[in-house]
Amino acid sequence: MATIFSRIVAGEIPCHKVAEDEEFFAFLDINPVAKGHTLVIPKKEIDYIFDVEDASLGRMMAFAKCVARAQEAAIPCKRVGLAVMGLEVPHAHIHLIPITKESDMYFGGEKMTISQEELASIAALIRKAYK
Ligand code: 5GP
Repeated sequence: MATIFSRIVAGEIPCHKVAEDEEFFAFLDINPVAKGHTLVIPKKEIDYIFDVEDASLGRMMAFAKCVARAQEAAIPCKRVGLAVMGLEVPHAHIHLIPITKESDMYFGGEKMTISQEELASIAALIRKAYK
């Protein structure tokens, strides 16, 4: 069965898309830990990120870097933090999180509540800054 992320890429489940190329897809996390929290995934379904073959993993990181640059331009922050867990969704993904302090990357607490309208406008800002 397709993962929820493959269904997002296929357009079966809505998302706030940030960027896309032939191999990768970036969209806002539905339960962000910080404003602009974005997920980068390979379109090809692979569960564990360290099973992605080397060249593809390198391209995925380069794609994530372009997304991070756009987040830096669009969202007030000091840096974009990167995390990989994959405990919830078995489809490799990188979390890219605009941060100003360490605790902005805390995954164990309560997630933010952001309206669909605000998520849409955040995604639009990041998309506009994406090169
Ligand atoms: P992880 O697998 O790295 O532990 O976390 C998966 C992440 O995917 C979580 O931060 C969760 O909020 C996000 N997520 C799960 N389902 C969906 C979904 O249907 N849409 C979006 N945009 N994000 C999701």
